[in-house]
Parts: sequence; structure tokens; C-alpha cells
Amino acid sequence: MPDMKNIAVFPGSFDPITKGHVAVINRAVPLFDQLIIAIGDNADKKHMFPVEKRKKWIEDIFKNEPKITVEIYNGLTVEFCKKTGAKFILRGLRTSADFEFERSIAQVNRRLAPEVDTLFILTEAKYTPVSSSIVRDIIRNGGDISEFVPEEVQL
Ligand code: ADP
Repeated sequence: MPDMKNIAVFPGSFDPITKGHVAVINRAVPLFDQLIIAIGDNADKKHMFPVEKRKKWIEDIFKNEPKITVEIYNGLTVEFCKKTGAKFILRGLRTSADFEFERSIAQVNRRLAPEVDTLFILTEAKYTPVSSSIVRDIIRNGGDISEFVPEEVQL
């Protein structure tokens, strides 16, 4: 099937996107025809930044990368994959705690949708301690986040 595109979804909250996310995305781009960065908009999850703002930052960061699109979704990630024709879910792995968490999600997703596979990229060593929640903590306490987020993330 020559016109079957190889599409991956990178789901997350991206509240806000960090340099750790960006490093994973940049390494994934050559592997796929299209990479959809999918911002999960779950009503029950508390967030710091409005979803449209999170989307705009990511679009700005990747404005010169035609393979990347940014979308907002709610509901199950595997349902979003089916809707978009994505055969892969991309996730980043930092630590063994990430691994255990991601393992159960990936295994359950596979039960729900056997045609979708989850692929993991190990984070760059220097970004292992970086997380959106730590960035939010720094913001709340008036610290400087410029080392941890791309310059497009302007509060
Ligand atoms: P979620 O709320 O789904 O965990 P996040 O935005 O926190 O959403 O994370 C999205 C994905 O990015 C996850 O796979 C997460 O493991 C990965 N990730 C988060 N921070 C980093 C980082 N510093 N380096 C590599 N991957 C990361």
C-alpha cells in the first residue's frame, strides 16, 4: 500500500512543553511520515496553562517542520489514533518510575487497540530531571525556567 502514511501520535499534557519533550520529538521526526503532537484535554486534570496556549507554543516551536501537526483531543488516546489513522503512540521514558507507569498504559492500550503499538524513546541524560510539573513549581515560586523550556514558551 504505497500511499499508507506512517503516522505517530505523541500524546501528553505539555503543560508546558519542555526541552525534554522537544528532544524526544526531534529524534522521532525522521522515523515517521507524520507526527501528531496531541494535547490531551481532560476535564478532571488540573492544568496551569489553557490548552490553546499550550497548542500555540508547540506550533511556534515546530513551525518549520512540515511533518508535525498539533491537535487537541479528549477521550481515549487509542480512539484518537484510530480517527487519525495513526499506528503508533510515541512516549518518552526518563526513569524506571516512568517505565512502570508507561508499561501498564501501553499494555492496556494494546488490549483496546491491537493495531496500535507504543514506541518509547529514552530521554537525553541532561533532560532526565526535567518535567512539566517541576517547571510549573519553578513558575509558582518565581524562578527562571529558561533552561528547561524552549524560548517560544513565554508566559
Ligand atoms: P502526561 O500528562 O501524559 O504524562 P506529559 O506532557 O507530562 O504528559 O508527557 C508527555 C510525554 O513526554 C510522556 O511520554 C513523558 O514521559 C514524556 N516526557 C516528559 N518529560 C520528558 C523529558 N524531560 N524527557 C523525555 N520525555 C519526557
